[in-house]
Amino acid sequence: MITRMSSLFLRTLRDDPADAEVPSHKLLVRAGYIRRAAPGVYTWLPLGLRVLRKVEEVVRQEMDAIGGQELLFPALLPREYYETTGRWDEYGQALFRLKDRKGADYLLGPTHEEMFASVVKSEYSSYKDFPVILYQMQTKYRDEERPRAGVLRGREFVMKDSYSFNMDDEGLEKAYQLHRQAYQKIFDALGITYAICSATSGAMGGSASEEFLAVSPTGEDTFVRSTESEYAANVEAVKTVAPAERDTADLPEAKVHDTPESETIEALVRWAQSEGLDVTAEDTLKCIVVKVQEPGTDEEGRAFEPQLTGILVPGNREVDMKRLEASLEPASVELASEEDFAKNPFLVKGYVGPRGLQANGVRVLADPRVVTGTAWITGADEKQKHVVGLVTGRDFTPDGYIEAAEVLEGDPSPDGKGTLTLERGIEIGHIFQLGRKYTEAIDLHILDEHGKRAIPTMGSYGLGITRLVAVMAEQMHDDAGLRWPTTVAPFNVHVVIANKDEAANRAAEELAQALSDAGLEVLFDERPKVSPGVKFKDSELLGMPYVVVVGRGFADGVVELRNRLTGEKTEIPYESAVEEITRLV
Ligand code: ATP
Ligand code: MG
Repeated sequence: MITRMSSLFLRTLRDDPADAEVPSHKLLVRAGYIRRAAPGVYTWLPLGLRVLRKVEEVVRQEMDAIGGQELLFPALLPREYYETTGRWDEYGQALFRLKDRKGADYLLGPTHEEMFASVVKSEYSSYKDFPVILYQMQTKYRDEERPRAGVLRGREFVMKDSYSFNMDDEGLEKAYQLHRQAYQKIFDALGITYAICSATSGAMGGSASEEFLAVSPTGEDTFVRSTESEYAANVEAVKTVAPAERDTADLPEAKVHDTPESETIEALVRWAQSEGLDVTAEDTLKCIVVKVQEPGTDEEGRAFEPQLTGILVPGNREVDMKRLEASLEPASVELASEEDFAKNPFLVKGYVGPRGLQANGVRVLADPRVVTGTAWITGADEKQKHVVGLVTGRDFTPDGYIEAAEVLEGDPSPDGKGTLTLERGIEIGHIFQLGRKYTEAIDLHILDEHGKRAIPTMGSYGLGITRLVAVMAEQMHDDAGLRWPTTVAPFNVHVVIANKDEAANRAAEELAQALSDAGLEVLFDERPKVSPGVKFKDSELLGMPYVVVVGRGFADGVVELRNRLTGEKTEIPYESAVEEITRLV
């Protein structure tokens, strides 16, 4: 197949679009792969669509290889299904809700657990029908709060979502592992650099949920990796390595000191050092007051009152709100406001300590490092006063422990091997052992081998198809443009005429035809009035893996072969060009 640049529906842009911040967004727009239609909503132009379809095909092959069967649900869905599981409301503002002409409620599907569970319920009734893996490639809709970076985080995007249904946990584990391996094959085939991160802290059995993160400085997710083992995890899932408890017997008594102007940890440490104490920020205890809002309502249908809660972390760390939220889920949490401080005079800003909170009935949750026998400098609940030598387990006892402190580079790895490094990534896939939450809600019951009612267990596995296109552009580009690997490049080879000579033009035509006859997808730049310089620039911007230039050397029987990935340029005989290029591709 030959596609001619003279008729290809394409306009490349010289300048970066004003709204683009990350390289993939800039380049995909400049190279004419995508165009913005609305915030977070994009049109796929011919070149972009070719990449998208190829990514889809790589994913499809691996899904088929693990026995997945493809189907396709509508994107426009009636409210009932999501009402049954409570998600019509729970999904909040991210759900696109709409009405038909009769006033019936509909939504645009953000994810399809309900639909898959329902279709299995309607078609299957016996344990003999299981296991089954179903999947679709489908356009999802989420009214993201912050659509970002072109198709990286869209409000309309294509996801491959699959779901496994098994009678028992071993079956689920097997389906999960099959998906895990398929994802590895897919991302390896696409040449993506990624890490597999545990997404849960292991309370549910370790591998209950893992995220595949493409390593990228522009990523929104932070994850950790061990310097000495395979351990990798989402920061939300990192479990703090707690020191051993210590004996409190010989520790000096806690003493309250006047500490003028020491509302910050920095100032407090300066004061302590000026008093001759050998301490750093790590020896101080930061006491952050938050409000925790439990979901749901009381018997009278009123939302619960938000509960003040004190979070204790060593002073050299911030409270990481994402980690805190993950620990308190499904409750939501926010920092106490000026108003809360004003309403509760026992909260002395800059001087809050655990004892004052507990004396006023406020729950105090501590970082795991605040073990029994540790001594701290912390607020004394009075203006300009701190207490030194406040010992956990002797002078106060936390109401519980919580993962809320930020993870720092160099922290010990939870698996005991090495220390942690912090990296940024983009979530490209998520595999999840759901269990029976949705099958129960949908009442998907079947008869087991004893003729008894049984509920299948479910796994859910998402993979961002449109996001992958952006991720590949993000990881595979240089200053001049995109650099696609052969697996997904819109065309295998880009033939450029850079010679006015008629014979050379004819030879280029023949070369393009021969490459096409050999089964390659050829992009042919035969634009008559465009200078070689512009053509070369375009070839770099568009990013096909191989570019063949029929130029000046043609008089000597050679053409130039450019490898876009390595930047290598070699002269090869015109006569053997087809053979050479087919071999490479
Ligand atoms: P994120 O944390 O990035 O919002 P998510 O946890 O909401 O992702 P899932 O619901 O697990 O994502 O969806 C499965 C996959 O779909 C994700 O791993 C990601 O690759 C892709 N995806 C999710 N939201 C978007 C979006 N707004 N635009 C493009 N791709 C997305
Ligand atoms: Mg999301």
